[in-house]
Amino acid sequence: MRVHEIPGNEESFDNKNRMPVFFIAHGSPMNAIQNNPFTQTLGEIGKSLQIKPKAVLCISAHWLTRGTFVCTKATPEIIYDFSGFPDELYHVIYPAPSSPEMANAVMKLVPEIKGTNEWGLDHGCWSVMKHIFPDAHIPVFQLSIDYNNTMQYHFELGKKLKSLRNEGVLIIGSGNVVHNLRLLNWSDITTVPWSTANPFDWAVEFDSWVKDKIDKRDFESLMNYEKMGKAAKLAVPTVDHYVPLLYCLGMAEPEEKITYPFESIVFGSLSMRCVKIG
Ligand code: ZN
Repeated sequence: MRVHEIPGNEESFDNKNRMPVFFIAHGSPMNAIQNNPFTQTLGEIGKSLQIKPKAVLCISAHWLTRGTFVCTKATPEIIYDFSGFPDELYHVIYPAPSSPEMANAVMKLVPEIKGTNEWGLDHGCWSVMKHIFPDAHIPVFQLSIDYNNTMQYHFELGKKLKSLRNEGVLIIGSGNVVHNLRLLNWSDITTVPWSTANPFDWAVEFDSWVKDKIDKRDFESLMNYEKMGKAAKLAVPTVDHYVPLLYCLGMAEPEEKITYPFESIVFGSLSMRCVKIG
């Protein structure tokens, strides 16, 4: 049954009805308008959900702040936070409502999180939501990343927020495990919908290392990823796209299954690994 066809959402959310958590590798903004193996998987993720979420909380690599904020705006506008892409991409709309009630619940749950109206939906959020919930019927709101804070802080904040899963909130962390734009094959990115040719060795190495640590539940090593060595330095030149993964892992319960709905390295230096918790 398609999630969009499930009537109502009045079910009580106990542990059995706990929503899964997804780390989605958003990659190039072009994914918003392309049909490729990754975007097809996103469509399947949306259809596979057993329970219709009351709202989606998205933690995107593209909202970086000092301190942590949640967007409380009722009608979030789309932010086209990129340049140099085809015109078509600047005409994409995603008219989903927000959920000020859930945003308030987030602030109540973790009082250090402040509310703000000064954001909408950035492309880390709408470019994937567009494929997961194409109807834009499910309210979506964003949480910012306190950019100068520690990896431990992000992981622990994920832990503090995980009870939202029992309230029918679908949490999506949106980033990329390997994200090196300086070494990216830009010649392909606006013309070829999908290119898995010639991934860098260090990209493959770091991506596999992350998977192995997740499989072993060694989240401590993932928080201290820099100690992994040279590959880590190249894969995570800045922390923005890596951090959303730590929020997701912080929300995992010890007994929960962790799987990978999608994995691939594209354009040489971009990992499209997606993680599903629960
Ligand atoms: Zn990005």
